[in-house]
Amino acid sequence: MVERNRAMSRQLSVLQELTGMLEEKPSVAPLPERSQCLYVEPLPNGDRKNCKNCALWVTSSRCLIHDPVIWVDKEAICGYWVGGKPQEGDLHLNMKLGDFVSPAFSGLTIVKEGTSCDNCKWYEPKDAGSGRCHGLEEKGQPPPVQARGCCARWEQ
Ligand code: SF4
Ligand code: SF4
Repeated sequence: MVERNRAMSRQLSVLQELTGMLEEKPSVAPLPERSQCLYVEPLPNGDRKNCKNCALWVTSSRCLIHDPVIWVDKEAICGYWVGGKPQEGDLHLNMKLGDFVSPAFSGLTIVKEGTSCDNCKWYEPKDAGSGRCHGLEEKGQPPPVQARGCCARWEQ
């Protein structure tokens, strides 16, 4: 009888443990911070970002970090955008094959109007020039961003 009671008590504690596990809330990974997604403030002229204002773009429609066999339109964009003056000429002809990121990895895509917070799905406008980003987090809050700021987490 004592053995039977012990076995029942063990079963009960296993059941209690399982019930507790089921009641636990699923853990949710925190959103990234602005710096982790390379947030950049608006360009001085207020333009949105795309290859034509990226320092890695070559005016022969190539990109310094993508294989030169890939045509990179001036209205494309990827997560590696670096603000600056594009490179002139046929610079890509001297580039070595094999040192490039793939378009799938960089997120290379055409966005004719360019990218900025105010055309990103995570943006909540506050006024004409600024708002909050619900795709990032700082101290548990959606951080303030500029309407023409942008980051690598941009999504249509
Ligand atoms: S593909 Fe990316 S890194 Fe290359 S020019 Fe365009 S934005 Fe810049
Ligand atoms: S609104 Fe979009 S582009 Fe702007 S910081 Fe947030 S995720 Fe990045």
